[in-house]
Amino acid sequence: MMDIRFDNSMVHYPDGTCALDGVSFTVPAGQFCVVLGHSGAGKSTLLRTVNGLSAITGGRVVVGGKPVDRKTLPLLRRRIGMVHQHYGLTARASVATNVMAGAVPAMPFWRALSGFYTPAWQDKACALIAAVGLEEAHLARRADRLSGGQQQRVGIARAFMLDPAIILADEPVASLDPRLSREVLDLLRTQARERGATVLCSLHQVDLARDYADRIIALQGGRVVFDGPPAMFDDYD
Ligand code: ADP
Ligand code: ADP
Repeated sequence: MMDIRFDNSMVHYPDGTCALDGVSFTVPAGQFCVVLGHSGAGKSTLLRTVNGLSAITGGRVVVGGKPVDRKTLPLLRRRIGMVHQHYGLTARASVATNVMAGAVPAMPFWRALSGFYTPAWQDKACALIAAVGLEEAHLARRADRLSGGQQQRVGIARAFMLDPAIILADEPVASLDPRLSREVLDLLRTQARERGATVLCSLHQVDLARDYADRIIALQGGRVVFDGPPAMFDDYD
């Protein structure tokens, strides 16, 4: 169980863009926290500071009591799963290979390079494929032959491979229709409810945020403009 603490966190990109302008809040372990905001609000940058894909240029990000930095990141990355808007799959690789790639941060370097996955990892991938609602027959298919909804399920299975304490989902449903969007959000919320995973999920749809979030953080211009329960959230412009 790990919490995430943003403490006056800032991100200035090298071109001078201020994407995160002093953000402070704590996501307790087991919470499904939705980060809501328009394009350019800083959602993606905020999520990426948690696994070090965006480097903070001020303040701190503390995960499970440890500040995110060069020293802590290698171990931290084993505890964090990430789901991307455009799925981030290797198009020409099989579904099985894509899911098992989620185990790479926990594998010795030479083994990850050789692409050899032990039977235990293969079994795990198999179980996850079922858990996200795909069939065993999908394992051998090429990732880019699946529908968008199926590809996002593969992306989710990959993110779950190491039973992450923290799940970062960056606009995971932006490319999906409303029914699939709800199925994907259900899968993510279940990780918080049943495993106590801390989920930070960015969205731009207010209705979905209201229906699924334990808590909404709204961002505008890199600042938090709302932090509270969905029932309290009414304004958005
Ligand atoms: P969101 O996910 O809410 O769309 P982002 O975090 O992607 O927001 O972007 C926040 C701001 O930072 C935007 O103005 C965006 O153009 C800018 N930005 C994002 N990535 C970079 C980058 N690598 N270099 C410079 N500016 C960036
Ligand atoms: P997506 O919607 O797929 O997240 P974005 O347009 O937000 O795509 O960003 C795509 C990539 O471009 C990201 O790596 C982001 O960091 C980078 N990026 C976004 N805005 C800028 C910017 N103003 N300057 C430089 N890089 C940017």
